[in-house]
Amino acid sequence: MLSTPLPEAFIDSIRLNSPFGDKLIDALDQPSPISIRVNPRKVAAKDLSSLRPVSWCAMGYYLEERPSFTLDPSYHAGVYYAQEAASMVISDLIKQLNLPEGARVLDLCAAPGGKTSAMLDALPLNSVVLANEINRHRSNILSENLGKWGVDNVLVSNDSPEAFSEVIDCFDVVLVDAPCSGEGMFRKDKNARTEWKPDSPVLCAARQTELLGHVIQSVKPGGYLVYSTCTFNQLENEDQITRLLADDSFELVSWNVPSACVPGRNKLGHYFLPGTTESEGLYVAVLRKKGTVIRSLENEQVPVSKEPIFGITLTENQVLIEERTGMHLLSKETLSLLKSIDSPLRFIKKGVKIAEQSPKGWIPFHELALMNSIETTIKRIALSEREALQYLRGETFPIQAQDPGFYIVTFKEMGLGFIKHFGSRFNNLYPKEWRIRMQLL
Ligand code: SAM
Repeated sequence: MLSTPLPEAFIDSIRLNSPFGDKLIDALDQPSPISIRVNPRKVAAKDLSSLRPVSWCAMGYYLEERPSFTLDPSYHAGVYYAQEAASMVISDLIKQLNLPEGARVLDLCAAPGGKTSAMLDALPLNSVVLANEINRHRSNILSENLGKWGVDNVLVSNDSPEAFSEVIDCFDVVLVDAPCSGEGMFRKDKNARTEWKPDSPVLCAARQTELLGHVIQSVKPGGYLVYSTCTFNQLENEDQITRLLADDSFELVSWNVPSACVPGRNKLGHYFLPGTTESEGLYVAVLRKKGTVIRSLENEQVPVSKEPIFGITLTENQVLIEERTGMHLLSKETLSLLKSIDSPLRFIKKGVKIAEQSPKGWIPFHELALMNSIETTIKRIALSEREALQYLRGETFPIQAQDPGFYIVTFKEMGLGFIKHFGSRFNNLYPKEWRIRMQLL
């Protein structure tokens, strides 16, 4: 139980203006469940036999107690992501939408990337996600997390929602997981309690209305707008949906919601509620833009790939592009989305960055090591758990290698990053900003 009490005005608002009542208020002082979502590309490295599944997410599991994620090399290898259970529902929701192969998705408020990676695991073949985050620092964390997830079909941009105002009829799904007053995090996060003020819902609602206004034209006719918050009040949730439905271009979509969820006020959307669902709080509503999806691909050129480096074998659907920032590997649909967006977005990740240019030639970039599915001639060296943690701390230690050169170091067969071996010693190429600072026992 958190020592900071729930704000009095919040308690009053739940009692007076919600159907949720004291059951919710009491639950907010109980311990939070701990959950993880496993990466289907790297599931072989995780023993799931003793874990209890999250009923609404195929790859979601509860943990009995909070481990030190920092001291688990598999966490850094992107084998799983620590995610609050309610948020995982986006995976199941996406699977239920009527989406074409090669669907295009915008995740407008994406950092740190939990819902982005959950969508990436659920979308039809050849789909692409553009994950955007307004905050610079958080957009870097988003890129890091998606780099660890090891996918070639994602773009990350660092822009305000306004930047999408001129992007018209582009996406099959736009997810707006809006910044909100955070009432649904009151159990897990003490700061959410102290930051909440009686006028937070009004202020947040105004911001949500504004940012929804910047992206509704980006949804294709026939496409979906998914709106979510982690708060319980009507202003930030049902009222936003009522406003969207008022101009008649959107309709509410019903989907197979987990049975423990509670319908929103006036049946607009649904809630995950602490004490009712085994999760924190989440509000989700799904809308569809009226009209038919128009898919015109005639003018799209087949992208030409650069010659592979490091003996990489590209699949039929992958291309390499060279930019000032380095060499990037993308799925063809990802490149095609990138080329089709006219607005000057600030992209900070394009697919998988595999190498950077140096005066002596290409140096492999750590995202390549984390993309476990890429075939390359770069050799691999397996580390013990202790060695893996030393590596993640940026240390060097004795490792046997056949020849000098670059190696991918692995833990339980999953890539962690690169080293450059010189015969008697190696340089640790793990990115400085990702290193763990915790002392090892
Ligand atoms: N979707 C994320 C996930 O599942 O990991 C969580 C997103 S969080 C609820 C909301 C995000 O909106 C934050 O990363 C925050 O930086 C961003 N944000 C804050 N103010 C914003 C604004 N005015 N416009 C757009 N995004 C904003």
